[in-house]
Amino acid sequence: MIAVNDQRCEHCGACTSVCPTKSVQIGLDGGDLCLNINSDSCNNCGRCVKICPLRALSSLKKGGS
Ligand code: SF4
Ligand code: SF4
Repeated sequence: MIAVNDQRCEHCGACTSVCPTKSVQIGLDGGDLCLNINSDSCNNCGRCVKICPLRALSSLKKGGS
């Protein structure tokens, strides 16, 4: 699954445009922009992680440490 660092993300939209499954979307949380990732449809392709200029996204592998 993909984790967002909300302190780094500036909602530029780069990750939303490369996601092949439309699993990452910019939304609103209260009055603030936030990044929502649908872990059910995400296929862990890693494109969003690579494209983010602020390194706000990371891929978390299950079961690993
Ligand atoms: S590419 Fe990075 S900074 Fe831009 S919206 Fe996605 S997570 Fe946020
Ligand atoms: S890892 Fe791939 S499928 Fe998952 S949110 Fe990122 S770009 Fe979309």
